[in-house]
Amino acid sequence: MIMYEIERSRLVKRLKAHGTVTDEKVLEAMGQVPRHEFLPSDLRSQAYVDSPLPIGMDQTISAPHMVGIMLEELELRPGHKVLEIGGGSGYHAALMGYMVRPDGIVYTVERLESLGKKAEEVIDHLGYNDVVKIVIADGSAGLAEHAPYDRITVAAAAPGVPKPLEEQLADGGRMLVPVGGRGYQDLMLVTRNGDRLERTSLGGVVFVPLIGEHGHEDHSRM
Ligand code: SAH
Repeated sequence: MIMYEIERSRLVKRLKAHGTVTDEKVLEAMGQVPRHEFLPSDLRSQAYVDSPLPIGMDQTISAPHMVGIMLEELELRPGHKVLEIGGGSGYHAALMGYMVRPDGIVYTVERLESLGKKAEEVIDHLGYNDVVKIVIADGSAGLAEHAPYDRITVAAAAPGVPKPLEEQLADGGRMLVPVGGRGYQDLMLVTRNGDRLERTSLGGVVFVPLIGEHGHEDHSRM
């Protein structure tokens, strides 16, 4: 346990020293949330290497630097209502939960039930279940029942910015979504100012595909 803590604090120090992440609240969250707990047991020893890792079902947990960059761009504050699409292991959701406490909430939508169930167990075990709620569904259409959201983050690549997500973004809200085909995408920042939506590209990224109604087709079923 102590070994993981030392490795985690070294990773956070490196992200800070390299200037990858500068926001102190983001660094604090990454220093607190135990990434190794969200990984399959045979990969835990690599939890604090700055690399994406497989979490089963052909899906991956993003590299810590990517998670840090996204958290920084989201500008999360206590009290925010957040929607994540692509809950995966639950790690990113837990970090956001940490940052929006005490009175904020994170809804994370995952389409694969086995991953969602596993994420829920870890979230419960670590005591983030007061701020993180996992929903098993196709999140490409968002989660209308709790909209609008102050922040939306999509952890899978969409062919375009899904319209329902734009509609569910609150006034003054910020959304991150990787847009592009399978392979390489642009990380888009979408901000809403009243009825006006603005899109900015933050650069190239690589995410697994968003599969669903407003995402890509499911090739595994073809
Ligand atoms: N944020 C995650 C990384 C997730 S990888 C973490 O911290 O571990 C992307 C996830 O998006 C995968 O688990 C994949 O199953 C999921 N996904 C893909 N399309 C989806 C959709 N339409 N709705 C919800 N989840 C989706």
